[in-house]
Amino acid sequence: MTNAARFAAVWLLLSIWGAAHGAPLHSPWPGGIAVIDLGPSESRPAATYEGNPVLVLQDQGRWQAVVGIPLDTEPGQTSIRVGEQDILVDVVEHAYREQRLTVKNKSHVTPDPKQLERISKERKIIDAALNNYRDIETESVALAPPVAGRRSSSFGLRRFFNDQPRSPHKGMDIAAPEGTTIEAPRDGVVTATGNYFFNGNTVIVDHGQGFVTMYCHLSEISVAEGQSVTPGETIGEVGATGRVTGPHLHFGTYLNGTAVDPDLLLID
Ligand code: ZN
Repeated sequence: MTNAARFAAVWLLLSIWGAAHGAPLHSPWPGGIAVIDLGPSESRPAATYEGNPVLVLQDQGRWQAVVGIPLDTEPGQTSIRVGEQDILVDVVEHAYREQRLTVKNKSHVTPDPKQLERISKERKIIDAALNNYRDIETESVALAPPVAGRRSSSFGLRRFFNDQPRSPHKGMDIAAPEGTTIEAPRDGVVTATGNYFFNGNTVIVDHGQGFVTMYCHLSEISVAEGQSVTPGETIGEVGATGRVTGPHLHFGTYLNGTAVDPDLLLID
């Protein structure tokens, strides 16, 4: 496909999805997305969740708060702050699977002190990019698939590396051969690139209002920090850098600084 044709295809998909749902489906579970109707009003209402600004978009003349629910949230009531008001949201239970992996490079399972120092430095850079809030108008949070390939439903997996429990999987792994082109799934600005201990070569893209996507284990990074990207633009290539067992794209999606299931945002 030529770049123009690919751009047209992505644009068409985004338009269809956007026309049908400016907001995604209400999925109020840990790792899911709560969509809360804030009614019609002249200007965009300000909403926060756990102190973080929340994405608010307009859908058929009404404002909708699109809130990422952290994976470690206990089912039950939680509240979104809108102006001077608290809006209650019922968080429902959601079962995630368990996965046990054997990792040969032991240092990737139990890092030594020097590696821990590196990891903590990188964590700060990554956290800053994932929590970035750029105040722009957002029409939709629909994402085109960044690579063609089999999508695992691996978000939320409770993982064990060599029988040691690790934090749950906060993204979707897409199986694709090394060198497969990764394309920006919508407009954005690159806020971080680097080679990180666990994530390998990584690109983080800010789509505005705290909506952020992350691409890990790349063989090649094709963009630079501060660069604007358009849908379909190449941002890198699939690889096997960092803590991996084979080439794949780790695709992370974030709202209000929290990882949410990419499956809830992808168009297909
Ligand atoms: Zn992954």
